[in-house]
Amino acid sequence: DYSHLLSPLKIGNVTVRNRLMQTAHAKGFHAGNGLTNDRDIYYQAERAKGGIGLIVTGARHTHPQSTGPGRTLARGNREEIIERDREMCQAVQAHGGRIVAQLIHFGPQGRSGALDDYRVLWGPSTMKSPAYNEWAKEMTKAEMDEVSEHFALTARYSKEAGFDGVELHYSHGYLHQQFLSFVYNKRTDEYGGSLENIVRFPIETLRRVREEVGPDFMVGIRVSMDECTVDGMHADQATEMTRLLVRTGMVDYVSATAGTYAAHADQIPPGDYPENWLVKDGARLRQAIREEADIPMFIVGHIVDPKEADQLVASGAADMVAMTRTQIADPEFANKLRDGREDEINHCIRCNQACIARLMVGNAISCVVNPAAGRERRFGAHTLAPAATPAHWLVIGGGPAGMKAALVLRQRGHRVTLVEAGDRLGGQLNLAARLPRREKFGFLPRDLERQLRKAGVDIQLNTRLNADQVAAFGADGVIVATGSRPLKTGFTSTRPAVDRVPGMDQDNVLSVVEVLENPDAVGRRVVLFDEDGGRYALGTAEFLLDRGHQVHLVSRFNALSPNLALTLDLPVNYRHVFEKGLEYTINSWVRSVDGQRAQLFNLFTDKNSEVLEADSFVIAAGHTAENALYQSLQGRVSNLHCIGDALLPRPLQDVIYEGMLAGRELLD
Ligand code: SF4
Repeated sequence: DYSHLLSPLKIGNVTVRNRLMQTAHAKGFHAGNGLTNDRDIYYQAERAKGGIGLIVTGARHTHPQSTGPGRTLARGNREEIIERDREMCQAVQAHGGRIVAQLIHFGPQGRSGALDDYRVLWGPSTMKSPAYNEWAKEMTKAEMDEVSEHFALTARYSKEAGFDGVELHYSHGYLHQQFLSFVYNKRTDEYGGSLENIVRFPIETLRRVREEVGPDFMVGIRVSMDECTVDGMHADQATEMTRLLVRTGMVDYVSATAGTYAAHADQIPPGDYPENWLVKDGARLRQAIREEADIPMFIVGHIVDPKEADQLVASGAADMVAMTRTQIADPEFANKLRDGREDEINHCIRCNQACIARLMVGNAISCVVNPAAGRERRFGAHTLAPAATPAHWLVIGGGPAGMKAALVLRQRGHRVTLVEAGDRLGGQLNLAARLPRREKFGFLPRDLERQLRKAGVDIQLNTRLNADQVAAFGADGVIVATGSRPLKTGFTSTRPAVDRVPGMDQDNVLSVVEVLENPDAVGRRVVLFDEDGGRYALGTAEFLLDRGHQVHLVSRFNALSPNLALTLDLPVNYRHVFEKGLEYTINSWVRSVDGQRAQLFNLFTDKNSEVLEADSFVIAAGHTAENALYQSLQGRVSNLHCIGDALLPRPLQDVIYEGMLAGRELLD
């Protein structure tokens, strides 16, 4: 029973149908013209259709001088945006949702070269930005007034477009939040030095917006409760500061958050981050707000359990709960809660790999567990058409690609048999979930299996079919998703002349998969070679450290994992691996393994370097497709497809996407 979470909430003059919301998040959908586009409209409409109460758009620039990374944000201060925004608002509202435009000035967290011409970044004081290491100059009073004017103009356009309200982004280290921060605001005029002074500019902007839109239009603020840096603002100061903003009587809601670019994990917590981590301070803030005005407060912060979300609302600790990645992973989350279909929910596994990581490399967001995310126009729920001719499909391999293909085929009305050689479904996801602090990866095979069984897919475990048996099976279509096996050659792409490092065939050389399948076979001292640059190596290192092994990691890269450079691209916080005593050597590789000795060499000089001694050697060197069955079926069965790792080992998000395509019969 989620009666509190699913009860309506009045905000200003707007009634929202439930307490579930989606916070503003960058999606990378904009091609550069800064206008709302179809991709955005379909994305938001899909979530409104799925029952969410309140959607806050991605932040939109309010001022020509506000620049973000790339050109992915809408520019709300352009009048041309109204027409497309109107379509987005109507699409959301037609499904009973409410939508608010979030207004931003990037300030020092912008990029001076993001637009065609160079723009000097503006900040409260002359400072170096923690985001991109660029300098920003101290703003003049005239510039501050100009920014407030542009916020007001953008709010006016938002109102004209039909938004239910606007939200002023006063958090996450953007311009207004830096005014609110004693770390960055070093001004000696009436805008710095005291709590009353640091709120002055944010209040001026708020006042201009309120004057422009009138008393009846919803205006909310998003505030940071904690800068999450050692000398930054914490909950005490944030609470007092928020009081002053609310005391103006111009605020219709407060959306509480935390973190800046200097503390990104706090903004977008990886899977091992404590759940509900802002709730305690949030409850205090809630109380302070209540003492100032009768307006609601929204809370965020790795809230994943709807029962706890319901309890938060019931206890009065918050009035609305933001579960944004939950909604990316399953746009129908709210309706499934409402209709008692919890067993059909696709849970976010907190991997950050398709939502955040894709954004970090300049792609639009998607989702590992929901490959339709960001692609709703083509793959949204409304596009899942029944099969023209229901047939009997055989899917071979119960890993993520095969499971997804089988489920989508079944949802489209086909009869489906899914065979798996092992004794459980899930493939390598089951191993990934064994890595420390990645338990949530196990949600994915669990959710898929639950849905497969509910949908009536015939699942046959411990079943390994050969080509004759597949041919005799007589299916109308066959999908081979037999996965991959780990490489154990020691070959590295920087050493193409070597295709097997001497000694790699010794019994004491194991793959990461062998380690996770049979950890008791690993000796006490381990040297782990990371050729893959992936998360598997560091995850396996931590797995072994937790079991009391001594681990030395050798990487051919100039950092332990290239992924670490993308600080958001992480399912877990790797700091713990180092705290647990990992030793390592970078820019190096293994020349040979001989018994218990590995000779390393430096990849730049090609000179031999260290000799490391170990009881076991472990290699993370990627995978090779397991496609022998597919090869032997060529020409023997019709309508044959090979998907997932069996075609080419790739990241999880790509093989599940391919499974979806196979299920929709969209593969060549
Ligand atoms: Fe969650 Fe991963 Fe999907 Fe992001 S990509 S929403 S973290 S499951």
